[in-house]
Formats: sequence, structure tokens, C-alpha cells
Amino acid sequence: MNASTFAAVFVVFVAAALAWRTWLALRQVRHVARHRAEVPADFAGVIPVEAHQRAADYTRDKQRLGLVETLVVDGVVLILLTLGGGIARIDAASERLFGAGSLRELATVFGVLLASTLASLPFDLYRTFVVEERHGFNRMTPALFARDLAKGMALAVAIGAPLLLVVFWLLRTAGPLWWLYTWVAWMAFTVVLVIAFPRWIAPLFNQFTPLEEGELRRRIEQLLSRCGFTASGLFVMDGSRRSSHGNAYFTGFGRTKRIVFFDTLIDRLTPDEIEAVLAHELGHFARGHIPRLLTVRFALALGMLALLGWLYGEPAFYEALGLDAPHIGALLAGFSLVVPVFTFPFQPLASLMARRQEFEADAFAAQHASAASLASALAKLYRDNAATLTPDPLHSLVYDSHPPAALRIDHLRKADPVNGIASP
Ligand SMILES: [Zn+2]
Repeated sequence: MNASTFAAVFVVFVAAALAWRTWLALRQVRHVARHRAEVPADFAGVIPVEAHQRAADYTRDKQRLGLVETLVVDGVVLILLTLGGGIARIDAASERLFGAGSLRELATVFGVLLASTLASLPFDLYRTFVVEERHGFNRMTPALFARDLAKGMALAVAIGAPLLLVVFWLLRTAGPLWWLYTWVAWMAFTVVLVIAFPRWIAPLFNQFTPLEEGELRRRIEQLLSRCGFTASGLFVMDGSRRSSHGNAYFTGFGRTKRIVFFDTLIDRLTPDEIEAVLAHELGHFARGHIPRLLTVRFALALGMLALLGWLYGEPAFYEALGLDAPHIGALLAGFSLVVPVFTFPFQPLASLMARRQEFEADAFAAQHASAASLASALAKLYRDNAATLTPDPLHSLVYDSHPPAALRIDHLRKADPVNGIASP
């Protein structure tokens, strides 16, 4: 394959991905608009029509912004950085500044990262301060936004630089199988990150306070012991600093496991509902979803690195990027931009896997807590997060990591026929 064939294939894939995503976004906007007038029968009486319409408008605004962002960032900017020679130019500037050597390669990787971040920045700003603000979700101040951005960039350098230096070193010293050793290093690194995240990284952005003693804590502890589960802490996170969206999650491995509730969730759900939501999260753990996800990621990473190992020796690849030689920093940056263009056809598969896991976690929750409470918690979360109840089926099939609300509640109803779920 020569450079121009490579470039042509790439352009075809970029165009196909953009066309596909545009079509899906437009379908979603149309579908939601068509069902805006009426609350679906399953939710009549539970979700007021104003809330339903607010969700429709919110979905429309998010979709439209996302569509423009896709066309600009994943279309124009992507082509400018890759075939347009943007990466090559950043690499040349890095060489002028730092000479040859690891520092130059690092500068190129972070230079390209900075360029991508700057390209997305106007959209992030618009999303936060216009779309989220308009729909009443935003709690972020410009100062907090700037601080988050600076912290995120500093963290990317602090975490990314050591890993990249290991990769450069392996490339120099490990021979033709450098990509395989890189994979081993990457796995080790990922595990360290999973452990470090709840303890050292998340607290840089949010405050975590132990869940206070009382009825709720007692019930949660009972649930944990019923499921034979130990966690190293129950925390409430100040999610309300940035947004009024509510959530709960679990992080960590083994003894570092932590359960985190957004304060916004605690405020809005009853203890029964919180218990059911937590039981759902426990279900993800009990059914081994986290190790499974990591295994899939590791397998994919092996494939990607094998591909990178091959492309590294292919002049067609680096010439298409406008490089005269395979400079690793530029190649890594280029590779990370190019690969997602070819993986978009697999998105439905990843979403399907995620949705299956949601059903498994719901079934676990129905077994160990109340299905009726989980259903009513879901209805509240959909209402308060203005998540649409009427997604376009194809859009949902491709993107949604969670099954549509009506389907989940339907399953929960079947799981708990005795109590019945009259009003979710
Ligand atoms: Zn889940």
C-alpha cells in the first residue's frame, strides 16, 4: 500500500463515519420531536408532560451541538491534523525546540493533544454554559471550568509522560516485538490507574465525604452484608458543584473498592430507591463486569499495538501523515487519531455488551433489593436528568450503553410480579 492509497482509504472511512453519525443524529432528533407531544403510556402519571417535553428539547439541543462538533472535530480538524500535515508541523516545531530525542517525541504527543483539546474547547464551553445552563443543569462557573481544564492537562502530562517514556525506551531497546512489551507495560499501568483513581485522582476534582451515620447508612450496610460484599468506604461526592445530574458509582479493585453517591442522588431518592440503585451497582461487581471489561480492553489493546507495530515500519503510513521518517511521537499521535475512524462499525457491539450488563445488574438488584424501588428510582432519574424516554430505536441500538427506560422497567416488572410495579 502506498501513501496515496492509504490516504484515500482513510478519507473514505472518515466520510462514511461522518455520514453514518449524521444520519443517526438526525434520526434521533426527528424521532424525539415526533414523540414530544405525549408522555409514553408506560410513564403516564409518573412523568409530567412538561418534564417529558423538557427532555425532548434537551435531547434535541445536545444532539445538534454533538452533530456540529462531530463534523468540525472528527471531520475538518481530523483531516487537517493528519493528511493536512498538522501533526508533521507540530513535530517539526518540537524538533526545533528540543532537538532529536525523547523530549521532542513527548512534545509532539502533547502538542497534538493540546491541538485536539483546543478544537473541542468551544464545543465544551457551549455545552456547559449554554446547553446545560439553558436546561437548568449547569452549576459550573467559568473559574471552575478553567481549573478543571488545567488540572486535566497537568494530569495527562503527569500520567502520560512516564508511560510514553517507557514506550520510547522499549522501541529503542526491545527489538521488533517492542509493541508486545508495550502491551505488557500498558496493562500494568492500567491496573495501577484503576487503583490510584479513587484515592488520588478523583479527589483532585471533587470532595468525598463519608456517608453519615443514620437510617440510609444502616440499610446500605445491611445490603452489603446480605450480598457478602465488603467495601472500603461509602462516600458522598459533591457532584452538585458542577451539575445537577445525579448518579452513583463504584470504583476500585479488591480492598480499594469504594461506593460513591452523588449528593444530587441522595437528595432526590428515598432510602428504598437508593438501596435499589446501589444493589444495581453491586450487580455489576457480583457478575464480574469490571474484570470482563478490562479483559476486553486488554485484548483490543493487543490488537491495536500489533497494528501499530506493523504500521511503524510502513512508509505509506508515515508518509501519508507528511513525515519523512517514523518519528514515534508523531506516529503515536497520528495512530490515536486515525484508529477510531476504522473502529466505528464496532460501536453497536460494544453498546450491546454494555446493555446486556445493565440487564444483569438490574436482575441482581431485583433479587437483593426491591425491583419496584429500582423502577421508581429509574423513572425519577430519567425525569430529573431529562433523559429521553423515546429514543430512536436505531440510534439507541448503536450508541446507548443503557437499555431504554421502558424496556428496563418492563424487565423489572417481570422480575417482581408479586409486588407489582403499578407506578414506576
Ligand atoms: Zn449499570
